[in-house]
Amino acid sequence: MDFCSTVYTNSPEGTPRLQNPEDRVLVPFKEAVLRCLPKEGGLYVPESPVDLRPFFLHMGEETSYPELAAAVTSQLFGGDLNPLSASRIAESAFTFEPELVQLDETFSVLKLYKGPTGVFKDFGITFLAALLEELLQGEQAMVISAARGNTGASIAGAFKGRRGIITTLLYPDEPIEGLESSSYVPRGGNLIPIRVKGNLDDCQRLIGEVIRDRSFAERYRVSSANAINPGRLLPQSFYFLYSFIKLKKRISGELIFSIPSGNFGNLIAALYAWEFGMPVNGYIAAMNLNNPFGEFISGRLVPSRLEKPVIPTLSPALDVSRPSNHERLVAFYQSAPAVMRNMVFPESIDDAAMLQAMERAWKKYRIHLDPQGAVAFAAAERLAASRDFNGHIVVLATGHPAKYADTVFRASGKRLVLPEKLASLASPAEPVAEIEPDLEGLENAIAGCF
Ligand SMILES: *Cc1c(COP(=O)(O)O)cnc(C)c1O
Repeated sequence: MDFCSTVYTNSPEGTPRLQNPEDRVLVPFKEAVLRCLPKEGGLYVPESPVDLRPFFLHMGEETSYPELAAAVTSQLFGGDLNPLSASRIAESAFTFEPELVQLDETFSVLKLYKGPTGVFKDFGITFLAALLEELLQGEQAMVISAARGNTGASIAGAFKGRRGIITTLLYPDEPIEGLESSSYVPRGGNLIPIRVKGNLDDCQRLIGEVIRDRSFAERYRVSSANAINPGRLLPQSFYFLYSFIKLKKRISGELIFSIPSGNFGNLIAALYAWEFGMPVNGYIAAMNLNNPFGEFISGRLVPSRLEKPVIPTLSPALDVSRPSNHERLVAFYQSAPAVMRNMVFPESIDDAAMLQAMERAWKKYRIHLDPQGAVAFAAAERLAASRDFNGHIVVLATGHPAKYADTVFRASGKRLVLPEKLASLASPAEPVAEIEPDLEGLENAIAGCF
């Protein structure tokens, strides 16, 4: 499968416009993963999605997650990855699996929080780590990623011990948690955590600058484990395919997924699953009050709205005002506006409605949802209550409910206890350096570790 850039120009009316198709530079998936950002700017998106139906349509209940992942991975990479490498990657990445729980005729919950840090992000990160190790075959490389919360621990864990790969983490000015100092580069490990005097946007901007500084990027062979890397985003399509093969014999009628959306990584991955041939009727983009795309999706995007300050809510992972996958979503709307309008349903849920949905999920189905999952459940219930709906909705539960014990207690009166492996992620850690948010500071800090 080939990739191209989303580069677009803003026309005076503020409507994003893609570059001319004939000017596009195509690169194979392998290069998109290793290079991470296109030379010409923008983000990588698939230019020619492959039809994966022959590889997953015949699969059924008994298919394991690594089997499914292996079968589709080698197809996505065309000639660059043989089936044996693909199964090595899938087995090394997925020591945990998604769990699909059917609640009744109308709803299922897809639990995506069984990974090492209790968040769906583990699925993309562990896959990318295993993939890079396999593609590099021992050659040296450096993965630079912006991190906050437990994402740093997820990346550090996934890349720990991967041959030839150094992992640099850029943290905004916030406490750092869940890293083992014994795995830092100066102590013989492969990890370089750096604190940046700035916010997450500064960290992300710095990564773009490092990758585009060709002499530095080539010296260290720099890539990233953030969602700018298509090698992290694409494997997130696997759990949509997985839900489909588990459900296809059990349901008739429409199939809808309800997706808690912050940076829209899961929504984009779901759209890829559709492009790969998964039979699906639509996706709910479930947001909290931070809903910069409600207007965009309904065709009324005003770019200045994207700069709106974030409103803090009880579903913090969805508190995003400028989604990092913005350009990829624009690219989808550019290429198929009518399909997108008929397939993506935006829904905005406030804290009160989220808490009520969390309570109903517990009372009616005896299932605890995290606040992000509860936003998606509330949005799913709204759609299901609409006239003539008789389909099935899969609600994505993206985080471990015990990570949000106070909110869960408020809604259900039950106090959840964090599993041991997740509790240890809260231990404080120190960076190896603290820098101003500029390229020189970053490059010096990295060079100083060797
Ligand atoms: C990151 C995150 C989200 C948002 O996912 P996007 O792909 O950025 O839309 C949702 N829920 C949880 C628990 C998260 O950590």
